[in-house]
Amino acid sequence: MEEKGTLSIHTENIFPIIKKFLYSDHEVFLRELVSNAVDATQKIKQLASIGDYKGELGELKVKVEVNKEAKTITISDRGIGMSADEIKKYINQIAFSGATEFIDKYKDKADNQQIIGHFGLGFYSSFMVAERVEIQTKSYQEDAEAARWNCDGSTAFEITKTVKKERGTDIILHIAEDSLEFLENHKLQGILDKYCKFLPVEVEFDGKVINKTAPIWTIAPSELKDQDYLDFYKELHPFAEEPLFWIHLNVDYPFNLTGILYFPKVKQDFEIKKNKIQLYSRQVFITDEVKDIVPEFLMLLHGVIDSPDIPLNVSRSFLQADGNVKKISSYITRKVADKLVELFKNDRKAFEEKWENIGLFVKYGLISEDKFYEKANSIALLKNTKNEYFTFEEYKAKVEAVQKDKDDNIIYLYTTDSAKQHAFIQAAQDRAYDVLLLDGPIDSHFINMLEQKLEKTNLKRVDAEVVDKLIDKGEVKESVLGDKEQDRLKEVFETATPKDTVIQLEALAPEDMPVLVTLPEFMRRMQDMAASNGGFGGMMGQMPNQTQVTVNTNHPLMTKILNAKKDNRGKLAKQAYDLALLSQNMLVGEELTNFVKRSVELAVS
Ligand code: ADP
Repeated sequence: MEEKGTLSIHTENIFPIIKKFLYSDHEVFLRELVSNAVDATQKIKQLASIGDYKGELGELKVKVEVNKEAKTITISDRGIGMSADEIKKYINQIAFSGATEFIDKYKDKADNQQIIGHFGLGFYSSFMVAERVEIQTKSYQEDAEAARWNCDGSTAFEITKTVKKERGTDIILHIAEDSLEFLENHKLQGILDKYCKFLPVEVEFDGKVINKTAPIWTIAPSELKDQDYLDFYKELHPFAEEPLFWIHLNVDYPFNLTGILYFPKVKQDFEIKKNKIQLYSRQVFITDEVKDIVPEFLMLLHGVIDSPDIPLNVSRSFLQADGNVKKISSYITRKVADKLVELFKNDRKAFEEKWENIGLFVKYGLISEDKFYEKANSIALLKNTKNEYFTFEEYKAKVEAVQKDKDDNIIYLYTTDSAKQHAFIQAAQDRAYDVLLLDGPIDSHFINMLEQKLEKTNLKRVDAEVVDKLIDKGEVKESVLGDKEQDRLKEVFETATPKDTVIQLEALAPEDMPVLVTLPEFMRRMQDMAASNGGFGGMMGQMPNQTQVTVNTNHPLMTKILNAKKDNRGKLAKQAYDLALLSQNMLVGEELTNFVKRSVELAVS
């Protein structure tokens, strides 16, 4: 008996369309077929375990075999198999309706980044690489007759009886001329390694089992040791340093999700590497693009997430709106925050030691995720130039009394470069002020966030102003110089410094520096912003150099300058100005050479 028929879909020939739409993802045919084989195998196991199948299970491996001469790839399993009727139902109707649905949805869209497996398109993806596909299958049911299905990618198919000894299914792909690369062993091995490495049923290729059927995320945390987690990490990232710690995710309500997320060691000057989290669905690798599922800041983590509840069959915009995805995202955020709080509470010292590496995640999280801020702001740390760590609360308590300005604002001072800004740090510390070290790659954003979140608190870089102005206590210091002398002094400095330099006279303490070069906080932030936005479309170039030069009228050098011989006045002023630049590593080239020459002259004069 032979049955011929026409597949009941409207599109004349859907395969060219499938091919076109899935072009970038041709290799997934193997994932789809092997997953189907695994599913069928698990079903027979389950039937056996509940007593609905009483026969021998036999060896249950899924096998992938290549025949280069015949140009075929065969995927065989010893699963439940299919009767002819089941082929008609599952392959001809259901699978095809999946394909039709897929095409209906995507024919007008350019978005071919879709994950096809979950359309029930799985089986038909074989036509991306095959010109003809055969199914030889025998159901597990008693007295089942083996059936053969044959289809060349048109809408016509045939079902015939066949002879097959063993229960289960062989899918035979007759590889098309344009896909012969898939007959290469290394190619198939690569695809299997990528998608099938952790499938729950043994998969054999080229005489070897290629997968681990029970990866550690499927095992209860109580049965695992630290070494198991470290070994698994090594397997995922053979060249990475040992992770700092990890979180085992395990939830089944209101969604099902397991996984392990590792905190890698991240250096301060690291290159942000995303796509290090792999997404699986029931142990089948789906993608390492977890954007929209994992909050942005956690994409710095490494590891795996396995969830059958993440809808893979929809477009990105839909994914963002999906209730489950939102819940998953906030669940992961919460778990990560909980873990950090636990580490902090259990061993503050160890936590501080790890801060160098985790600070970046935490800051990134605080900045980008309000939910994370709520949970984790109590364990975020600020580090000062003396390598001491404080929580936000502790820090406030520490500096509140001394670092309040006349308007009751608390001023946090920070440095981005403790070597370059050393003179200013020193000056601040002489006033008993504390200086934070904020030299990380996202600290400029972190600073903005702190100002938004903390009440009546401003942050200023130590070199934003002369120290008395940094935290303006409203005290007016008397200048030892009279008005006339001040005018003369100003003139001397205006002549000695580059054209258009703005000279400000300030009555500072005699022990302060004679001359200071500063860049007001807001100007520097503008410049930082311009730099990170690619220069505001060129505006950066037009922004004048807004450094300010402050001359300390109470410094003994000023009286010396005023009393010096006319020739020497400019020289001394220039010297004081150059010293200010030098103290910040800003004196270079010809100016530096001239400075050295002048210093020698002054020394011998
Ligand atoms: P999906 O796997 O998403 O349901 P597929 O197109 O991959 O969609 O497969 C359609 C159906 O065909 C499956 O649900 C299953 O019932 C049947 N099938 C496919 N492959 C096998 C197999 N190797 N053994 C038994 N049944 C299979």
